Amino acid sequence: MHQLSNDRSFATPGKVETGNLGEMAALDLARLIAAAADTIAVHAEELTALDQAIGDGDHGLNMKRGFEAVRAEAQAFAAKPLPDAVKAIGTKLVMTVGGASGPLFGTLFMALGKEISAEPDRANLTVAFGKAIEAVAARGKSQVGQKTMLDVLQPVHDALAEGQTAAEIAGIADAAAEATVPMKALRGRASFLGERSIGHMDAGARSTALLVRIVAQTLGESA
Ligand code: ADP
Ligand code: MG
Repeated sequence: MHQLSNDRSFATPGKVETGNLGEMAALDLARLIAAAADTIAVHAEELTALDQAIGDGDHGLNMKRGFEAVRAEAQAFAAKPLPDAVKAIGTKLVMTVGGASGPLFGTLFMALGKEISAEPDRANLTVAFGKAIEAVAARGKSQVGQKTMLDVLQPVHDALAEGQTAAEIAGIADAAAEATVPMKALRGRASFLGERSIGHMDAGARSTALLVRIVAQTLGESA
């Protein structure tokens, strides 16, 4: 088990070849799933309110349904090798979240599972996460700057690549979600509102930041 805040691979830019996230991830996947499902449940109303402002108000419920379904099978996921577990979580999210975000979050995890190694270090995680983001962008026909989850995913990837600590990455994710407020939505339901989408945080950006924070926290706390 690794204390990532003290792990050189997380503390020193450029030292990406050291550190082993996989051991921790494999051992603690059930705990990580429970923590992710908890944070989504706690914030479901907030996510719904964000989606009510510029969408159809189902994002909180969609995410809660999906993550409770993943939680229900946490032990089975945790028993698999990490790549298979991450892929299976993606499949489960596609089947249960619904809306536009279900296939997109599902794609993120399925693509991540394809690229991640059984015992990933920061370098592998960075490459795998980059490919997963590309898969989301392809699936959503979207790119950074369009007021979607990609506006959090991409800065998180960049921070990972630059060697930021887990705590810094969580802060970057929050700031990136905040930065969607002044954006005009160009994808998803919010884009139907045009200029009126300006002034509200994107719901998917917020849920992504919540997930990034809980993953970073859980990895950072593991010793
Ligand atoms: P729906 O929009 O079908 O009601 P949700 O409310 O669950 O689905 O999810 C909406 C979120 O999905 C948005 O806030 C946005 O972050 C994300 N999203 C929607 N369309 C796209 C897209 N084409 N590319 C990337 N993300 C998208
Ligand atoms: Mg919605």
